[in-house]
Amino acid sequence: MNSPGDSIDDIISLLNKHYHPITQQNQRHKPSIGSAMLPQIKQQINVLYAIPNTYNNNQDKYKRKAVSLNRQQQQKPQIKDTSSFLIPMTRCLTFKPYSGSTDIIINDVGYYYKFGSSPIKLVKGLLEENGFKESNDKNWTLYWSSCAIKSDVYTNLFAYQKVCHFPKSYEMTRKDLMHRNISKMQINNGFINFNFIPKTYILPAEMSYFLEEHEKIKNNNPIYICKPHASSQGKGIFITDKIQDILNKQNSNNSYVVSHYIDKPLLINNLKFDLRIYVAISCINPLRIYVYQDGLARFATEAYNSDNVKQNRFVHLTNYSVNKDSPNFVANQDPTLDYVGSKWSLLALREYLKLNKINEQQIFERIEDLIIKTIISVESAIFQACEMNVPFRSNCFSLFGFDVLVDSFLKPWLLEVNFSPSLNIDAPLDLKIKGEMLADLFTLIGIVPLDQRFSQDLSYVRNQSNYDSKKHQQEFEKYIIKETEEELKRSRGWKRLYPSDQSYRYTKYFESDRPLNALLRNYYK
Ligand code: ADP
Repeated sequence: MNSPGDSIDDIISLLNKHYHPITQQNQRHKPSIGSAMLPQIKQQINVLYAIPNTYNNNQDKYKRKAVSLNRQQQQKPQIKDTSSFLIPMTRCLTFKPYSGSTDIIINDVGYYYKFGSSPIKLVKGLLEENGFKESNDKNWTLYWSSCAIKSDVYTNLFAYQKVCHFPKSYEMTRKDLMHRNISKMQINNGFINFNFIPKTYILPAEMSYFLEEHEKIKNNNPIYICKPHASSQGKGIFITDKIQDILNKQNSNNSYVVSHYIDKPLLINNLKFDLRIYVAISCINPLRIYVYQDGLARFATEAYNSDNVKQNRFVHLTNYSVNKDSPNFVANQDPTLDYVGSKWSLLALREYLKLNKINEQQIFERIEDLIIKTIISVESAIFQACEMNVPFRSNCFSLFGFDVLVDSFLKPWLLEVNFSPSLNIDAPLDLKIKGEMLADLFTLIGIVPLDQRFSQDLSYVRNQSNYDSKKHQQEFEKYIIKETEEELKRSRGWKRLYPSDQSYRYTKYFESDRPLNALLRNYYK
């Protein structure tokens, strides 16, 4: 493995050695590295060792509640001696949060990013302040898109390249599909174990079932919330206790998701609120799930009252995009006062609940449980899509926004999972929370430094690798454990949910017990 002391010649010969196997594997033409590239590589190497240290040197500056909380709460794996492992690990880049500046001068050191959709200021600013430049070629390291990624992007990936979505994650993020997948889990694994989404019907397809079920409970005057199946930001949503309002929708061609309305939410200052929880999947095989310690609590802007549900969107919807237009909306201008206004930090909310003797720990344990179960409900679809389309286990990661409503019995309900959670910076609090979360995400996923891109043993990261001999199998298993442990060391504000010493509780919910999940489950037992 290279170290800052290696000579340029050593690095070039390593790059050449490892370039050609890749060309063969992926059937792509790549030139060999010759002396013509020397100045470029020299520059890359000089700056390379400057970048990863930026954050470390300023740790005090960026250290904050969430990170220390994470350190305390991080599951402690059993101490096992990994020092004898033969596999050298890659030293990955660390990122500092975006300052908010629009005046960034980038030193071109050879790291590039690309957007597959319109650029997002926070992503762009953060990457550029960390030395990345926008690519107009295929030489990018990181690909960010708020839309689904086309299959040809996946199939042509090198091992070091990272894209921000797994194929088929829409199975969890489309309202109708999420309900279908969780309902399937309820049927197969017991309703009680997956009872964290409001009962939902996809209309018009399930109209007769909906009417049958409504007939059984109509004397209780049920309230429904109706949402277009592929919409967001509260658009097109209405709440009603009149079945006729829903039947009238039949005439429109659009598909609607109709859910039971949770009419007894937990209130703070008499206002309804919901939680935006950031969740990351860093790897699908083995499955590794993280939750961010901070997030957002978003408040409605008019006092809650369930008597007249048609009354007002500012009472019943907690979307920022809805409430920012309310005359009562209070913007938070000071990120250190993260418990004032219509948007709080998740950490501030937890403090508030604790101070008010509400068992917030129980609420958040339940939230973590529902996150793991929701992801397991789509694990098989994503795993298979990756095996078919994505060359390396290291290529994909995902950031999801889980929207959770807590009711007055302290039960969390999953409302939806956002494919591309908003990274807009509408207030200083957004910059603080989302900026740190994103810097920690890019650190977590493990971006391989330039000089190590081709020094990895690719057989360990390739999808669909078969390990025939016992020796290879053992080396591979050591590699997976070390990869997982190294990632945990980079997790900062991210708390790992899966694998953990509790993994065995979830095994029965997987469609298949994958060997690498079993390996880590046994390792952390
Ligand atoms: P969108 O994707 O359009 O934002 P959501 O499913 O997030 O749609 O719903 C918008 C808002 O409506 C939520 O933030 C929440 O305040 C409220 N809401 C959604 N579903 C329910 C429900 N079943 N019970 C109570 N409130 C709900």
